[in-house]
Amino acid sequence: MQTVSDYFGCNVFDDRVMKANLTADVYRSLRKTIDEGAKLDIGVANAVASAMKDWAVANGATHYTHWFQPLTGITAEKHDSFISPSPDGGVIMEFSGKELIKGEPDASSFPSGGLRATFEARGYTAWDPTSYAFIKGKTLCIPTAFCSYGGEALDKKTPLLRSMEALNRQAMRILKLFGNNDVKCVRTSVGPEQEYFLVDRAMYEKRKDLVFTGRTLFGAKPPKGQEMDDHYFGVIKPRVAAYMEELNEELWKLGILAKTEHNEVAPAQHELAPIYSTTNIAADHNQLTMEIMQKVALKHGLVCLLHEKPFAGVNGSGKHNNWSIATDTGVNLLSPGETPFENAQFLLFLCAVIQAVDDYQDLLRISVATAGNDHRLGANEAPPAVVSIFLGEELTAILEAIEKDAPYSGTKKTTMKLGVDVLPKFPRDTTDRNRTSPFAFTGNKFEFRMLGSSNSISCANIMLNTSVAESLKIYADTLEQAKDFKSALHDLIRKTIKDHKRILFNGNGYDDAWIKEAVEVRGLLNYRTTPDCIPHLLDEKNVKMLTSHGVFTEKELHSRFEITLENYCKTVTIEANTMADMARRQILPAIEKYVSSLASSAAAKKSVCPEAACGYESGLINKLSGLADGISMKTSDLESAIVHVQDEENVEKESYAIRDILIPCMNELRALVDEAERLTSEEYWPYPSYGELLFGVK
Ligand code: ADP
Ligand code: MG
Repeated sequence: MQTVSDYFGCNVFDDRVMKANLTADVYRSLRKTIDEGAKLDIGVANAVASAMKDWAVANGATHYTHWFQPLTGITAEKHDSFISPSPDGGVIMEFSGKELIKGEPDASSFPSGGLRATFEARGYTAWDPTSYAFIKGKTLCIPTAFCSYGGEALDKKTPLLRSMEALNRQAMRILKLFGNNDVKCVRTSVGPEQEYFLVDRAMYEKRKDLVFTGRTLFGAKPPKGQEMDDHYFGVIKPRVAAYMEELNEELWKLGILAKTEHNEVAPAQHELAPIYSTTNIAADHNQLTMEIMQKVALKHGLVCLLHEKPFAGVNGSGKHNNWSIATDTGVNLLSPGETPFENAQFLLFLCAVIQAVDDYQDLLRISVATAGNDHRLGANEAPPAVVSIFLGEELTAILEAIEKDAPYSGTKKTTMKLGVDVLPKFPRDTTDRNRTSPFAFTGNKFEFRMLGSSNSISCANIMLNTSVAESLKIYADTLEQAKDFKSALHDLIRKTIKDHKRILFNGNGYDDAWIKEAVEVRGLLNYRTTPDCIPHLLDEKNVKMLTSHGVFTEKELHSRFEITLENYCKTVTIEANTMADMARRQILPAIEKYVSSLASSAAAKKSVCPEAACGYESGLINKLSGLADGISMKTSDLESAIVHVQDEENVEKESYAIRDILIPCMNELRALVDEAERLTSEEYWPYPSYGELLFGVK
C-alpha cells in the first residue's frame, strides 16, 4: 500500500524535484533566488523552465498557467498549452524561461478600481519563485504576482510580498542592535485554521439563495440547532469522513500540510488546519485549499460552503490566522527566550505588535471587511468588530510590573530588570483559553481571529506585517541613536506599555459591557460594518504609513477602496435580488397553494357537515393571508430600495444606502417569510428547511 510519504508533494515541483532535475549550478543559483531574493539570470530561468516542463509533461500536464490572486474571487488562471509545431508536422512541448518568469494574461475584466486604462488593460504576471509550482489536473500552475504595466499591484500577492519585505527590513535593524549578526533575514509564518460547512448537494441545488449567494437568505429556526454542543469534536459522520480523507489526499499531493480536522460548534460545520508555513506560501496554500475543498465536495454529492454566515442563528465560519515572526536561523521572535537578553528582545517585538495593533486597529478591521463577515463579527460566536489584544494574566502582569517598575508578583516576586533578569516561565496553556479575543497571544504566536472563512489571508497579513514594521521602524530610529542601549530599551518598552495598554483586554470579548468600555472609556474603534470601516483606508495616517514602507502606492489604495466597496455593494444587491425573486416566484405562490388547500378542505368539511367549525383552517388562512400581504408589500419595498441605492452618485454613498436602507428591508422581509415557513405545511414549502440542510448529511 502507498503511504502518505510516498505521494506527499507528488504534484509539486519542490526542492526534491529541483535537486534531482537541475544541474548543480542551476540549482544553487535558483536556491539563492528563493532563499535570499537574488536576481534570476535568464540562462538559469531557461534551464528551470525546461526542467519544469519535462517534469510536468512526464506527470501528465499539457498546459501551463500563471496562477494568481485577483482582487476579488479566489484565484485566476489562463491556460496555455506547451505545444509548439515542429517542422515535420508534429508538435514538441516547449516552455521558455521568459514564459516562466513573465506572463501576459488578457485580464482586462479583472477589477482594477480604475488602475488600468483599457489601452493598457493587459497587465502582466511575474513568477514568485519562493512558492513552488504545482500540477492541478493537466495544468502546471506557476504561482505569480499580477501587476499593471505601470507596475501597480492588481492582486493580493504583490503587496503581501512587499509587506514581508518591509517587516524584514525593519526587524533586521532591531536584530543588529541586539547583536544578532548571523541572521540573514526575518520572515513571518502563518497557520490558517479554515472553517467550512458541508451540505447535501441535492438540497443545496433546491435553494436559489445558496446557489446564487452562498448563504441562506430565508430559513426558520430548526427545532434543534447547536444548543446541545454535541457536534463540536463529535464523531465524524461516514460521508464527511470519506470527504475529509479524499480532501487530505488531494492536499498532500499538492504539498499542503493539512494536519488537523474536526467538527466545529455548529451542526454540519468542520475545520481544517495545516501546519504553518512562510506567509506567502501559506496564502497560496490556503487559496488552493479552499478551491480543492469545493471540488472534492462535489465528487461526494456535497457542497462546501465557505460563506461567513450560511445560516442565521447558527455559528458562522471564520479563519484563524496564527502568525509569528522568525529568523532564517530558526529563532521565533515571539517566543520568550532563555536568557535575559533574548527576553528583552522578545519584549520589544511583543511591544511592536501591541503598538501596531493599537495604532492600526482600523487597518486590521478593514483587512477582514466583507459583506459576509459583517454578519459574523460581534454576533456572539466571533470576536466583536472592536480590535483588542489578549495576552493572558501572566504576561499582562509582567508588562504591568515593567511599566510601574514594581515587583512582579509571579513566582519570584522580584523587580524585572530588562536585559538582566530572565522572564519568569509562564505555563503555555493558560495563555490559550480566551476564545473571544480578536487578537490573542498563544504562547509563541498571535492568533488573529477576525478573518472570515472566505477571506484571503493576504489582506490581513499585509496590514499586520506593515503595521508591525512601522512600530519596529520607530524603535530602530530611537535605539540606533541611543548612547546607552539598555536604558534606552528599558524606557522604550515602558513607554510603549504605558501608551498602548488600552488595547490589552483579557476579559470576555463577547460581553456588551466590554464594547461599552472599549468605546467609551478606552476610545477604541468600533466599525460595525464594511461601509463603516473601508473609507478609513484612505485616512491620512494610514496612507502615509502604508506608502512609506512601499507596500501600497496611493493609487493602489484608492483602487482597493473602490473595489472593496464595489464588491460589498454587488454582493448585497445580488442577495436582495435573490430574495425578491424567491419571495415572488416561490414563497408567495407556495403560501397561496397551501391557503387554497386549507380553504378547500374547510369547504369540503362544511359540505359534509354544515355546522363544522373549521376554526383551525380559517385561523390559519387568516394568519397566512396577512403574512402573504406583508411579504408582498415588503418585496415591493425591497425592489424600490434596490433601484434607489443604485442611483447613488458614487460607490461610497451606495454602500451607505445599502447599509441603512437595503439591509433593513431585507431583514424585515426575512422575518415575515420565516414566520410563514413555520406555519406552512412542509409539503408546500418550496425549498429544504434549516433542519434538513443542517442535519441532512449522514
Ligand atoms: P489551536 O489550539 O488554535 O487549534 P494549534 O496549536 O493547533 O492551535 O495551532 C493552530 C495553527 O497554528 C496550526 O496551523 C499551527 O501550525 C499554527 N502554528 C503553530 N505554531 C505556529 C507559529 N510559530 N507560527 C505560526 N503558526 C503557528
Ligand atoms: Mg486556533
